[in-house]
Amino acid sequence: MMGELESLYREVVLDHHRHPRGNRPLSDYDVEASGKNPSCGDEVTLQVKFDGDRFARVGVLSQGCAISTSSGSMMAEIIEGRTIAEASAVADRFKAVMHGEDWPEDLDLGDLEALQGVKKFPVRVKCALLPWVTLLDAILAHAEGRAPDPVSTEGLADDARPMDVTIRGGSDR
Ligand code: ZN
Repeated sequence: MMGELESLYREVVLDHHRHPRGNRPLSDYDVEASGKNPSCGDEVTLQVKFDGDRFARVGVLSQGCAISTSSGSMMAEIIEGRTIAEASAVADRFKAVMHGEDWPEDLDLGDLEALQGVKKFPVRVKCALLPWVTLLDAILAHAEGRAPDPVSTEGLADDARPMDVTIRGGSDR
């Protein structure tokens, strides 16, 4: 039986952390957004080059823990080539999952599935969501034709619905 921490740091998560996808600055981009997760010290800079309403190229420059960097890497992999509407839908669904909703069966979230275990660790949910809330901010700013404001995950838990958190075993902390 996998322990809770093993289920959190699955091999695919560690692989994204060690070899983050999209981890290079773009020479040419339309939007640059940055986000911080003060509770863990994670930081992300997101650069996007659009082709019409599609994400042509995505740069995700992460500094932080394995959960935030792997989530950003998965995001780069998932949204490149997708439309703004598709990427927004993935971001919204992933947010809902992290706040306790069931995993969507109608949407392919790629490697993000490996981050499912994070929702059992409320403090890590902000790590996993940092790149995605930064993305949503970048999308909104792009739609409004302005530069994105820096994002912080501070207060993110305030929108979260109460989570059904059960830590089994419970003796390792
Ligand atoms: Zn973190």
